[in-house]
Amino acid sequence: MKNSISRRTFLTKTAALGAGAYPAMLALNLLPAAPAHAFDLHAGSGKGKHLIILGGGLAGMTSAYELRKLGYRCTILEARQRSGGRCWSVRGGATTAETQNPQHTAGFDKGLYFNAGPSRIPHHHQLTMHYCKELGVPLEVYNNVNEGSYYFAEGKGPLSNKKVRAREIHNDMRGYLNELLAKAASQHQVDASLSAEDSAKVLEYLRAEGGLDIDKLYKASARRGYLEQPGAGNQVGKLGNPHRLADIVSSGLLDPDFYNVAEYTYELQMTMFQAVGGMDRIAQALEARVADCLKLGAEVTTIQNQAEGVKVVYKDQQGTHELTGDLC
Ligand SMILES: Cc1cc2nc3c(=O)[nH]c(=O)nc-3n(C[C@H](O)[C@H](O)[C@H](O)COP(=O)(O)OP(=O)(O)OC[C@H]3O[C@@H](n4cnc5c(N)ncnc54)[C@H](O)[C@@H]3O)c2cc1C
Repeated sequence: MKNSISRRTFLTKTAALGAGAYPAMLALNLLPAAPAHAFDLHAGSGKGKHLIILGGGLAGMTSAYELRKLGYRCTILEARQRSGGRCWSVRGGATTAETQNPQHTAGFDKGLYFNAGPSRIPHHHQLTMHYCKELGVPLEVYNNVNEGSYYFAEGKGPLSNKKVRAREIHNDMRGYLNELLAKAASQHQVDASLSAEDSAKVLEYLRAEGGLDIDKLYKASARRGYLEQPGAGNQVGKLGNPHRLADIVSSGLLDPDFYNVAEYTYELQMTMFQAVGGMDRIAQALEARVADCLKLGAEVTTIQNQAEGVKVVYKDQQGTHELTGDLC
């Protein structure tokens, strides 16, 4: 019997596992490389040629920016009244309209913004960092991890319907699981293949990882925070007791929504970056380089291949227009 899996089933199962479907598909070669053939893009190769670029998002504007370096004349047609596409930072007064809903206007105070699209530049997005450097967009570290944030599980269980610090759940789980493993390792249940010396090292690791005491037991420690902060003199602070493992489980705090340790994954590992002042600074820097060839409010409605090029029809507030571009 043929052992096959549909793309939909694969995506559903991968998502259910909590892994990113996109990197998994790349790794399994289920997403083939973009089929575009290699272009002959040497300096001056674009002389006398007109290219029409659909969409003034980061991809469209970067394409125009690079192609113009090679001498191509470019026209970017962007349906919206702003550039940047998904790379959008909402600021006070910004509006957005949905097909079924009335227009929303952001009432933010001056200086405040919300990155509605991309907010993080991961360590492996070297191309993005390259363009930020070339375009003079300053970057700063993006804090992807906040152990002081709260979980709030709605439902049953003694820890639900109230605020619980992420650091408490993370450290309690590390503590309990490493205590279990340390006990098993002490009885040579999990380390049969290890030498006595290596076994001792594993135990030492489990103690450090779980924050276990000398008896390999998980108890209250400063890792999970204080009920009363330590101060000067004899104010040593008051430690909070670990939550019971059964309480954590029954309150739903091991559900993927809560225990989704994003920073374990390659794409979200620290250190991450963001553009200082909002991610739309990247779009704005690109727009400044290509503004003279960018048409806003120009929605492409038809694309027709022709013997000698391509015909693109777009509409704007003035009406319907045609543009012809070259095949390259
Ligand atoms: C909520 C969210 C969070 C994200 N977070 C991250 C992140 O943290 N880090 C990261 O690296 N990436 C992130 N991404 C992905 C990133 O935003 C996109 O990969 C990137 O912005 C895509 O750029 P693009 O130019 O290819 O497409 P788009 O930005 O979608 O640009 C396409 C453009 O085409 C225009 N257009 C569409 N149809 C027409 C038409 N008929 N005529 C004319 N114009 C048209 C659109 O208006 C748009 O401006 C996130 C995306 C979203 C939505």
